[in-house]
Amino acid sequence: MQPDEAIDTGLLCIGSGPAGVAAAMAYREAGGTGRVLVVSDDEEPPYERPPLSKGLLRGEPPGTATPLHDARDYLAHGIELRLADPATALDPMSRTATLRSGAIVAYRACVLASGAGPVRPDVPGAHLPGTHVLRSLSDARALLRAAAGARAAIVIGSGFVGCEAAASLAMRGVAVTLISPEDAPQRSRLGPWAGVRISRWLSEAGVRLELGEKLASLEQRAADLRATTESGKVVTAQVVVLAAGISPRVDLARGAALALHEGRVAVDAHMRTSAPALFAVGDVAYAHNASAGRALAVEHWGDALRMGEVAGHMAAGHDDSWGDVPGFWSTIGDRTLKYAAWGDGWDDAQVTERADQSFAVRYSKQGDLVGVLSFGWDEQYDAASDEIQRAALASVGGAS
Ligand SMILES: Cc1cc2nc3c(=O)[nH]c(=O)nc-3n(C[C@H](O)[C@H](O)[C@H](O)COP(=O)(O)OP(=O)(O)OC[C@H]3O[C@@H](n4cnc5c(N)ncnc54)[C@H](O)[C@@H]3O)c2cc1C
Repeated sequence: MQPDEAIDTGLLCIGSGPAGVAAAMAYREAGGTGRVLVVSDDEEPPYERPPLSKGLLRGEPPGTATPLHDARDYLAHGIELRLADPATALDPMSRTATLRSGAIVAYRACVLASGAGPVRPDVPGAHLPGTHVLRSLSDARALLRAAAGARAAIVIGSGFVGCEAAASLAMRGVAVTLISPEDAPQRSRLGPWAGVRISRWLSEAGVRLELGEKLASLEQRAADLRATTESGKVVTAQVVVLAAGISPRVDLARGAALALHEGRVAVDAHMRTSAPALFAVGDVAYAHNASAGRALAVEHWGDALRMGEVAGHMAAGHDDSWGDVPGFWSTIGDRTLKYAAWGDGWDDAQVTERADQSFAVRYSKQGDLVGVLSFGWDEQYDAASDEIQRAALASVGGAS
């Protein structure tokens, strides 16, 4: 450790998730000059997060995380990774960041890609040993070790990470109970029809569902953890997965007095924050979408990559903007759902199901298509994704 180390960069990326790494790569590919440094509090070289609740948790090969890039790619692009040395302060006035090691990094441009952290529910026992969150590779490894010796697991939360983790643990032979206040998984986001369908898939994967139940407390009882719901239901297991949502990591942004909106860093469609030469991307950003004509909070892998790319291009002096329809795929058991939507509400959902149980749900708001969910029906998904963007562009004129 060199407390007074000073580093001069063309581009500093804070965060080694998809958004930060994509920004560094895009900056180089657009001809960006100077040193490019990606700093992270993660100790692992950048890896794919989506498999942590899917293949990795199910125990599928390769049995470890998939790297985001080969080590040679970073070398070839002239990108330096500085792991386990997070930024502790950011000063847009002097255009510097301070790292935990004490190093001061000066930047010409900086991309804040600090992502989000898992939230533990505010109930007694939420921090007991045997309770797990699932965001990082080290979280996944700890969960895998615990699951290996567990007969039963409780998953709290029916968002996509909760549903995926529940199905994956059940496929390993663990007796899983999923507890959620929703009366069907994903009902608030995807509506009752999709919620019932996901419930069925979870049940088929062997997950027992306790829906419409809010966790009240967790207690240690000998080697077991006991979950009690507000209605008095009791479930016992050796492992608890808390999949109760995430919170954007905005500490640095707050310290730097950046404009925030709804707990995220406010950026325009070019990913520019309220401070010069400072961009924010991915889960931490509340970004204006040029096609939608409004800002969106998005927590998807592909959009983190794309926002990172936009910021990298902008930092290198090339114009770019985010106008894609946000979307993600989720694999629950062995079924993959595809979802593309603006994600900020709908008032009508039309379901079309085929004899082979493939389906598409088209979500509209005031008559405009704003989202699509599909299973086994890629043509519907692709066509609807295009239609969503066209409808938005027609109504806002694509203003950015
Ligand atoms: C288990 C799981 C499964 C998922 N599956 C899917 C899926 O199937 N499809 C999908 O679209 N999305 C999925 N997601 C969501 C997706 O992974 C996120 O939307 C995406 O990772 C966001 O990327 P990001 O780069 O903005 O943030 P992150 O991936 O969270 O990366 C942020 C990085 O910043 C680092 N960091 C934070 N603070 C600092 C600091 N002060 N200094 C330095 N470094 C810092 C963090 O350690 C981390 O490396 C999944 C998420 C999880 C947890």
